[in-house]
Amino acid sequence: MSAVDFQIGDNFAIAMDERDPLRDFRKRFFIPKTPAGNDCLYLCGHSLGLQPKAAADYLAQQLKDWAEFGVEGHFHAKLPWMPYHRLLTEQTAELVGANPEEVVVMNSLTVNLHLMMVSFYRPTKERHKIVIESGAFPSDQYAVKSQIRFHGFDPASSLIELTPRPGEAWLREQDIEEIIERSGDEIALIMLAGVNYATGQAFDMERITRAGHKAGCVVGFDLAHAAGNLPLKLHVWGPDFGVWCSYKYLNGGPGCVAGCFVHARHAQAFDLPRFAGWWGHDEGTRFEMPPNFQPMPGADGWQLSNPPIVSLAVLRASMDIFHEAGMQRLRAKSMLLTGYLEFLLNHTGSQDFSVITPATPESRGAQLSIRIARNGRALCKRLIANGIIGDWREPDIYRVAPVPLYNSFHDVSQFVRKFASAIRT
Ligand SMILES: *Cc1c(COP(=O)(O)O)cnc(C)c1O
Repeated sequence: MSAVDFQIGDNFAIAMDERDPLRDFRKRFFIPKTPAGNDCLYLCGHSLGLQPKAAADYLAQQLKDWAEFGVEGHFHAKLPWMPYHRLLTEQTAELVGANPEEVVVMNSLTVNLHLMMVSFYRPTKERHKIVIESGAFPSDQYAVKSQIRFHGFDPASSLIELTPRPGEAWLREQDIEEIIERSGDEIALIMLAGVNYATGQAFDMERITRAGHKAGCVVGFDLAHAAGNLPLKLHVWGPDFGVWCSYKYLNGGPGCVAGCFVHARHAQAFDLPRFAGWWGHDEGTRFEMPPNFQPMPGADGWQLSNPPIVSLAVLRASMDIFHEAGMQRLRAKSMLLTGYLEFLLNHTGSQDFSVITPATPESRGAQLSIRIARNGRALCKRLIANGIIGDWREPDIYRVAPVPLYNSFHDVSQFVRKFASAIRT
C-alpha cells in the first residue's frame, strides 16, 4: 500500500481492509471476547501481544516430548531441547537487523539489561555517568541507578536524565546530541529506549549511536517497545548492546523469555567482565564441566542458564508469523493504521484530549499516547468494561496501539467512534 488520503466513514475502513495484503494474519490470533461473545477492540499489543492460535501446538509438542522422553528429550525430542534456542536465532537476527552471532534469546528484559551493564557499564572517576530519559520505564530507572550505586557512585551525580523542553512532550534529537557533546567525556553509557513507552516517541538510534561513539561512550538500547514494532538495523546502526522483551509486540505470552543483542565488535571480547553461567560456556567442552569459564563467542557467551523450552516454544509460534509477514510489510501497514488513527482522532475536533506522540511517522511506531484532560483513568476503565482495550499510564496518558498483525482499519474507525463518544459523556 502506498500513500493514502484518509477519509471519514466506515466504507473507507472496509475498503482499506479489503486491499490490505496482511489482513488474513488476524485469523491466526485469538482475539479476546467481551462477555457477550463479541471480539474486543484490542489495541493493547504494546503491553501484551495476542496469542497466536498455533502456540498451543508448539507448546503441546514440548509437553508430549517431555512425557515421552524425560531427560532424553534433550537429544531425542522432535526438536531436541539441547540446541532448541538456536531455532530462534535466525528469525530473531532478521527481526532486529543483526547477524545471528549478535543475538540470543534468554532470561527476561531487566535481567538482560543488568547483564549488559555488568559488561558495558564500566565507570571510572572521570567517566561514570549514565544517560537515560527522565521518562524512562521505571524498571530501567531502577536498574541503572542500582548499577551506579553498585559501582560506588551516586545517581545524584552520575545519572543524566533527559527531559523534554518545558511545555513539550518528547525529546528533541538535537537536544540529546547536544548533551552528548557537552558532557561526552563524563558519560560512560547512553541507555535510551528505542521507542519511549509513555510517549510513543521513536528515537533515531543510528544518530544517537553515532553521537555517543564519537564522544567515546558505550551505547545501548532498551527495545521493549521497538522490537516487532519498527524495522531495526542494529548491526549497521552499531549500538554496543540492545535488550527487549518478547511479550509486547512479539506476542510471546506473559513473562516470555527475552532477547539480547551484543554487537559483533564485542564477539571475541573474552576479557570483558561478565557474569557467567554454564550455558554461556564454550559448547565444545560445556558437558566436560571444566572448572574454568570459557565464554562462547558472540551474544551466546552471555547466557547463564539452560533456557525455558516451553516459553521458547510459544515464542517460536509468533516468530514464524513475523518471518512470514516480514517487518517491512508490517511497518508499511503500521504507518497507515496509526496515521489513520491519528487522522480520525484529529477529526473529532475534541478539546478533551490531545495526542502527544510525535506526528511524524518516522518518529513513532504503532502506538499513540493520548493525553486526557479530565478523568482519564475512569474513562479507560469504562472503555475496557465495554471491550475496548487500551491502557492507562499515570498521570494522564491513555495508550493505544493498532498492531498490523491483528488489527484492522475497521478496528481503528470503531475505536475512534466509541472513544469520542465515551469522552463526551
Ligand atoms: C515492558 C518494559 C519493561 C519490563 O521489564 P521486564 O523485565 O520484562 O519485566 C522494562 N523496560 C521497558 C522500557 C519496558 O517497556
